[in-house]
Amino acid sequence: MTGGAQARPGGAVGGSSGLVAGGLVVTAAVLAHGLPSLMTLRRLRTAVAPRLAGVGRADHVALTFDDGPDPASTPQFLEVLDELAVRATFFVLGSMVRRSPGLAREVAAAGHELAVHGWDHRPMLLRGPMSSYDQLARTRDLVAETTGQVPAHVRPPHGVLSSGVLAAARRLDLTPVLWTAWGRDWTATATPQTVLATLAPDLRGGATVLLHDSDCTSAPGAWRSALGALPELAARCDDAGLVLGPLADHGLRPRRAQLRISPFAAGYVSG
Ligand SMILES: [Zn+2]
Repeated sequence: MTGGAQARPGGAVGGSSGLVAGGLVVTAAVLAHGLPSLMTLRRLRTAVAPRLAGVGRADHVALTFDDGPDPASTPQFLEVLDELAVRATFFVLGSMVRRSPGLAREVAAAGHELAVHGWDHRPMLLRGPMSSYDQLARTRDLVAETTGQVPAHVRPPHGVLSSGVLAAARRLDLTPVLWTAWGRDWTATATPQTVLATLAPDLRGGATVLLHDSDCTSAPGAWRSALGALPELAARCDDAGLVLGPLADHGLRPRRAQLRISPFAAGYVSG
């Protein structure tokens, strides 16, 4: 699920000046590590960091799902998306891909984009830089090995960023993307109607919509509210002249340089 994980360790300040200075250094380091987590605040990041929030092409709405792939629910999403002829981006957990590699392959084979959520769902703010890198690298590599598709986007659990996540994303060539609209589909009381009503004020061209194709971190069966909202969500976008699709088509990152071997030279050119 998402929602803001607010745990934030503070620096201890001791009685002597040395301890105070040490405490301040620790506090400054913790704050610097956690500063990007302010971007968890959706309206703030949409205003000050629109690309990070997922504000994309004006004629496009990005449809994204977190927490799968889950054999109990993801196949139903694939079926409905197929009926609607809509492709989406699935931010997967490495632990879930390891459990259901065949399902991850089905998601890719249906034309959807796979992206990195994390290996498990613990907030990245509670991890150091090495652990954050390990989470993202293991998940990216497993998705690539399993599906043949190299992920291009990352959204850490709970949408909580840290300096470690941003550094790891840069090293792994993953573009961080959070969301501009959510359906609060992870709660026990969510229904397709509440999901649509929650999405409505923020559903516009350029939006990135967050839903969940698994309840592995949320209320049991909550995914049914997201699933039930999909046909009407697609219809509303269609009525507004907006194309509903994956982040890959949202215009957030330049097309990856295509490396190709030149038949006439022992080198490569990019194009
Ligand atoms: Zn999640």
